[in-house]
Amino acid sequence: MVSAVDASPPPPLPSSPPAAGRGTSPASGEEKPLLSVKGLDAFYGDLQALFGVDIAVGVGEVIAVIGANGAGKSTLLKSIAGLIASKRGSIAFAGERIETLPAHKIVAHGIALVPEGRRLFPSLSVEENLVIGGQLGRPGPWSLERVFRLFPDLRERREFKSTALSGGQQQMVAIGRALMSNPRLLLCDEISLGLAPIVVREIYARLPEIVAEGISVVIVEQDIEQALRAASRAYCLQEGRVALAGNASELTREAVSAAYFGT
Ligand code: ATP
Repeated sequence: MVSAVDASPPPPLPSSPPAAGRGTSPASGEEKPLLSVKGLDAFYGDLQALFGVDIAVGVGEVIAVIGANGAGKSTLLKSIAGLIASKRGSIAFAGERIETLPAHKIVAHGIALVPEGRRLFPSLSVEENLVIGGQLGRPGPWSLERVFRLFPDLRERREFKSTALSGGQQQMVAIGRALMSNPRLLLCDEISLGLAPIVVREIYARLPEIVAEGISVVIVEQDIEQALRAASRAYCLQEGRVALAGNASELTREAVSAAYFGT
């Protein structure tokens, strides 16, 4: 089911069952969501960037957050990751309220952010960048060896400075660094930005392997088609509000375009 919304309050979550093999949608009502964001307002000084945003992510689910430049997608991910101090509303993760926790405690709870622009440490090697990712996290299946199995290109280049890598390889390091913290929820901010389509496809081809480890994923993308292919459900933000929410396979180009541009 697709729901179009023009203003606050935010829309109810869609009520259709999840796509096969794509985790347990909280919209099904069968299970509590892993992540539940309710009535989220976020601010940069006097500027309000999010207005009453509601989203939910089920265990093992992949959801997409799409929207035009400045719609608030990165602010939503940063708010969940504890990087926006000025906010209102509730963020519950695995049954615990986390909206007042600092970023390092949120990582320890099992949420990892792959930031827009990768933000690697340029003076450090691939391996050192990855090891840093594991320092604040939890115990679990992800290790250097496991990341190198996911991205074999990185094994061969483990001693290289991150600046010596291609854009796609740098993005693999950024994802690998986040996985090293053994998250239950991976937040990916525009991982396709600046990459050739073939490289984007190569990186997205690894997503099922990540999800198979029981990780839920939120994808923020400017490549809408890629995002909708990878996700079972999607939310479209417009000027800081959820303008559309629904199963990815049911969102029509027209509905997305209207929610995107407010036409
Ligand atoms: P993009 O695709 O361009 O990254 P976005 O959907 O991720 O866009 P945000 O980066 O979350 O959007 O921005 C939401 C709003 O908050 C915009 O109006 C933006 O100008 C503003 N904003 C973002 N970061 C800051 C900041 N550090 N200081 C002040 N305003 C900011």
